Amino acid sequence: SSSLPLPSKTRIITVSNQKGGVGKTTTTVNLAAALARSGAKVLVIDLDPQGNASTALSVEHRADVQSVYDVIVSDEELGDVVQKSPEFDRLYCVPANIHLAGAEIELVSLVAREQRLGRALRRYLDSLDEPFHYVFIDCPPSLGLLTINAFVAATEVLIPIQCEYYALEGLSQLLQNIQLIERHLNPDLQVSTILLTMYDSRTNLANQVAQDVRDHFPRETLDTIIPRSVRVSEAPSYGQSVISYDPNSSGSLSYLEAAAEMARRGVMPKKSESTNGEGE
Ligand code: ADP
Ligand code: MG
Repeated sequence: SSSLPLPSKTRIITVSNQKGGVGKTTTTVNLAAALARSGAKVLVIDLDPQGNASTALSVEHRADVQSVYDVIVSDEELGDVVQKSPEFDRLYCVPANIHLAGAEIELVSLVAREQRLGRALRRYLDSLDEPFHYVFIDCPPSLGLLTINAFVAATEVLIPIQCEYYALEGLSQLLQNIQLIERHLNPDLQVSTILLTMYDSRTNLANQVAQDVRDHFPRETLDTIIPRSVRVSEAPSYGQSVISYDPNSSGSLSYLEAAAEMARRGVMPKKSESTNGEGE
């Protein structure tokens, strides 16, 4: 699958779930790599102070490197902090480092505190001769101001859901927050994609969770499920996506398939306000 339909407008996708360890960063990095491999120009914005996406994409993110922090807090231009990932030709990353840990607090007293990432991103995208096809924003595990900035900057939300018992807990809070952002700050925002991750087909529980999610979100949930796979978890320590690290592994193939599904589905028309929201 080396060529996929390219979107005519940049798709800006925030990968969010306030739970930690559900596969946000893994999904961000591997979908971005899969799409870049198929010929799309892709930007990953690392918005987690842990900088895991920066690590996985092999971009510098030591404390003295310019990062997304400088963009959000000090009005640095995004174009001045973006780096090319060595992995694919058209894959780029805005790194995060430890400075971002203080940003939640620093943002509180800044003007337009919810809009800082969105405005910087618009300015950057408007300045480019060759547009990005996809921008992925990797969120921290919280619903604070950094995540709000990501929701305001985006047109789509992708929610990774781990196939385990507590998967749906906290989801209604996340959806309520997204709806608030949509009403007050970003009318274009919609939950476009739900991706089931770390699936273990041997357990009944995983199957039941997957079915529950599909029942609640028939339109958003991708057909492709990401299996639990050791190769997926090993790849970041080699500064690679699993797509490069082990192209024929089940993890790689499933992320390639999930990316193809997203590309082929395109952007769905927005649901009207009255039917929008959790469940239905
Ligand atoms: P988050 O960004 O939501 O905190 P991560 O993407 O960092 O979650 O994933 C949490 C942990 O689970 C990491 O150690 C990651 O390598 C591992 N992991 C993620 N997806 C898979 C998978 N499909 N199979 C095995 N391990 C995975
Ligand atoms: Mg993460």
